[in-house]
Amino acid sequence: MITLRLPAAALAAGLTLAQASPSAQGPTGQTPPATPAFGTFGVDTTQMDTAVKPGDDFFRYANGKWLATATIPADKARYGMFDMLRDKAEADVRALVDELGRTPQPAGTLRQKVADLYASWMDEARIEARGIEPLRADLAAIDAAATKTDLIRLMGRIEFSAPFGMGISADPADPTKYVVVISQSGLGMPVRDYYLNPGEKFDGYRAAYKTYVTRIFELLGDKTPADSAATVIALETKLAQVHWAPERRRDVKATNNPMDRAGLAAAVPAVDWQAALEPAGLGAVSHVVVREVSAIKDGTALLDTEPVAAWKKYLAFHVADEASDNLPKAFDDASFAFHSKALRGVEVQRERWKRGVSLLDGVIGKGLGELYVAKYFPPGHKAAMDALVANLRAAMGERLKTLAWMDEATRAEAQKKLAAFDPRVGYPSKWLDYGAFAVDKASLFENVRRGRMFDWQRRVARLGGTVDRTEWGMNPQTVNASYNPTMNQLTFPAAILQPPFFDPAADPAVNYGAIGAVIGHEMGHGFDDQGRQFDEAGRMRNWWSESTNTKFLAQTEKLAAQYNAFCPLPETCVNGKLTMGENIGDLGGLEMAYTAYKLSLGGKEAPVLNGLTGDQRFFLSHAQIWRSIQRDDALRNLILTDPHAPSAARGSIPERNMDAWYAAFGVKPGDKAYLAPEQRVRIW
Ligand SMILES: [Zn+2]
Repeated sequence: MITLRLPAAALAAGLTLAQASPSAQGPTGQTPPATPAFGTFGVDTTQMDTAVKPGDDFFRYANGKWLATATIPADKARYGMFDMLRDKAEADVRALVDELGRTPQPAGTLRQKVADLYASWMDEARIEARGIEPLRADLAAIDAAATKTDLIRLMGRIEFSAPFGMGISADPADPTKYVVVISQSGLGMPVRDYYLNPGEKFDGYRAAYKTYVTRIFELLGDKTPADSAATVIALETKLAQVHWAPERRRDVKATNNPMDRAGLAAAVPAVDWQAALEPAGLGAVSHVVVREVSAIKDGTALLDTEPVAAWKKYLAFHVADEASDNLPKAFDDASFAFHSKALRGVEVQRERWKRGVSLLDGVIGKGLGELYVAKYFPPGHKAAMDALVANLRAAMGERLKTLAWMDEATRAEAQKKLAAFDPRVGYPSKWLDYGAFAVDKASLFENVRRGRMFDWQRRVARLGGTVDRTEWGMNPQTVNASYNPTMNQLTFPAAILQPPFFDPAADPAVNYGAIGAVIGHEMGHGFDDQGRQFDEAGRMRNWWSESTNTKFLAQTEKLAAQYNAFCPLPETCVNGKLTMGENIGDLGGLEMAYTAYKLSLGGKEAPVLNGLTGDQRFFLSHAQIWRSIQRDDALRNLILTDPHAPSAARGSIPERNMDAWYAAFGVKPGDKAYLAPEQRVRIW
């Protein structure tokens, strides 16, 4: 992977809407097509299973034929609506990049950088011929380390792994300023469970990891690869024991620990922080936020208890692991066998051009987005989305007025926060200047490194300045959406504004059930268990009265219990606590979208289309965007690591909590998904 090791601000993590969907139409034209992309009104009714009672299993009722017959492409861990739309976005980017490659681009332009970065990725012969030469300088630097301080100096460089990561984000205490955030880091497997959980499945993951680490040492020319692998894994297992679990990392209070340098030295005494911060360009920093304090303290204590030689093996493995995509095929194949095949069940490597598109997304994604928007994003879509977002905001305002569990003081604060939402649609108002990023056709490894350094230095340079509110975390060509609590901003990239999420030719019920629910979901994050701890200006501030807080918590516990009971694999149930924020977003989002749909009808009855009422189309559209199947290993991975519930839960549990769904499909006591009115969770 080519993302920064340094975890981007903890606080923005896990707040996005994951997963997406398909679409088969051609390039987005300048004028919307007259007919919807799906079916006659926007919902694909041919793939429903009407033999299933909607009240027994709504997800299967809405998607059953597709679920019974679809297969996961060999190069994917999961397949569904989001993935289909992602395939389209990927193909669109390829067409754009191929076009750039056909003629020489003027040196130093964005077009030249995109084209040459892609060309350097596609030049497999050259990557092969260079062997591990690009890694030599890093390996020599590791080799030369003799003391703990030498190790820490290496760990402060962005290319090396460490038990701590450094990032720069908005300060929760004053979101107009940037702050350095220090987080737990340093594992080679996804999370601590992979090291520590008992059972055959996890034994299998650990065996695959051992094979992988051994293979990397072989390829690096290590004389005792199996022993070196055992050393690295033993060290990481000790690190895993002190790491915080993903659900604990969602605690915004426990992870917000502002410190000055003396405080940092006292809290994490094993690290010479000047030695760690200086190589990252942060030597002059006087104030930091430390996230998982005990994990960072105890993880770095291993620098004292484990031999320098063991840490050197650790650094060598990780520097090769992180760069494996950009090294000869033997590294790439070994990485695929572990990261994709063993951990997620993927059968074959993705075609090279697809991975090239992902590389561009990671290294020069905003620049690529500038070209993507110019070619593919119809200007009319922005205005239509702005209107939808305004309708959703109005709907939430209406709902807030009548929520029985809120007292007036808290309600007024919530309205203030809603009014301050800052929605961004399509693409950023200001494009990122890649002028200082040099790219050439011949040096894939160095291109990627320079890209990371360019991004890091840009962040370091603005420390001490005012936070840039025009910046986007996501790329316009990304099929996703996000909410950022410290900015109180909602972001809807251009690529998600396509069918089946958003189709100007579809029936309004369909758009409200799809993109409307996505908009509502992101708004819901402003008021989920994390987002509600931030105020209208993005400051971490408690604006809740004690009694309203208690009522909120009671509802969220009920919701967690519903998700805890969703068990898609034997002994593998959704973690209601880890997925809490996303689940609140999903439920609140669907409620808001439904209210907005009703408001849009202006008191009139929606027409019946194909025998379906407006309400039925709304809920079917929603369940359809979550249409997805995935491999068991990928599902287990998701449940352990991802704050999003599996799509079958996302496309059915919110419905069960909405009275309108019961009315729309005649769901009655005795139906398997039936919840008595008092069991339904009503939050937003
Ligand atoms: Zn989300």
